[in-house]
Amino acid sequence: MESWILWFLFVLAIAAGWWLGRRERKKPQSLELGLRYLLNDQQDQAVAALVGELEFLSDNVETHLALGGLLRRRGELERAVVVHESILSRTPLDTKTRHQVEIELARDYLQAGLLDRAEALSLKLARENPKYQTESLKITLSIYEQEREWQKAIDTAKLMVGGENQLQIDDAISHYYCEQAEQQFGKGDIAAARVAISGATGHLSTNPRVSLIQAKMELHEGRFEQAIKVLKRLPEQDVDFVPEALLLLKKAYQLGGFELDDYRQFLESCLTKTASISIVLAVAEIVKEVQGDEAAAKYIANYLKKNPTIRGLTQLIDLHVENAHGISKQNLYILRSFAEALAADKPAYRCIECGFEGKRLNWRCPSCKKWSSTRPIFGLEGE
Ligand SMILES: [Zn+2]
Repeated sequence: MESWILWFLFVLAIAAGWWLGRRERKKPQSLELGLRYLLNDQQDQAVAALVGELEFLSDNVETHLALGGLLRRRGELERAVVVHESILSRTPLDTKTRHQVEIELARDYLQAGLLDRAEALSLKLARENPKYQTESLKITLSIYEQEREWQKAIDTAKLMVGGENQLQIDDAISHYYCEQAEQQFGKGDIAAARVAISGATGHLSTNPRVSLIQAKMELHEGRFEQAIKVLKRLPEQDVDFVPEALLLLKKAYQLGGFELDDYRQFLESCLTKTASISIVLAVAEIVKEVQGDEAAAKYIANYLKKNPTIRGLTQLIDLHVENAHGISKQNLYILRSFAEALAADKPAYRCIECGFEGKRLNWRCPSCKKWSSTRPIFGLEGE
């Protein structure tokens, strides 16, 4: 058992004993039991026994708050709610203490998934007490994110503008607008999607997601030149996200009938800023179309000498397999299956905040819930 939890339970038990002694009441059996469990290092039973003492401890709000917080951290959300609600219902409280209990209760509700109650309480607190405004708005935002209520999230986050972590808030607002744009685009409402995109740009013009969504919309509307223009902003926004744009870019160049040489020049300029195998392979594809397999293989091999990756090796083998014969061809197939096995099930993205890894790009980490924290993985098994 963690020492602070043990320490807390000791203090709680001593406080309860002192209070009961002062009131000259007979010490309840469950309190004794709680102490005994504590001494035997039986945390679960100790908490259960001490929670049973609530009615005897009704004038000790701090102890209740500490117990409620402990229960929430242990994941015992129902009991945390009972403790905090019991303080509100049993004790006449001054405004400051009531707000202190209410913010704890709002946190309980949020974690327990009681989103309506969490929303009502956090909105009330944000209105009533400036001290808890930021925390309450954070709870409210978290609810709207879970419910995918993007307009409400935008409106709430805007109330936090000017406070701490300004960049983080702008980043989140920009993503809320992106979510909204994707929703509208999915429904075919391009005009509304464009309004959302300009909202996203207005809050964080360096968000690469904005360019990717806008390019999809431009392509959809046959505005190929505009799509290319938008995607060419990516290296300035975040060059590591250029690989996400490769399919869109190639499509825009091909459908628009533009020179692939311009596409190649753009990709090569990106390679001076990032060591991305996806970009190298995109250039190699153009080299193959213009100069053939041998030139493409040479291009990839040159790159692999400096930045070896399994994906690059696999592509290199593919280019050689076509022109190999007999035993050489068979050996290349064996080599390829090894390379494929090495790369199989390897994650492509990692959250820089919590380390969560996955095969697809999440703009909001599914684990730590941070926006823009997931990035492509570079190295032998990645980009
Ligand atoms: Zn994370």
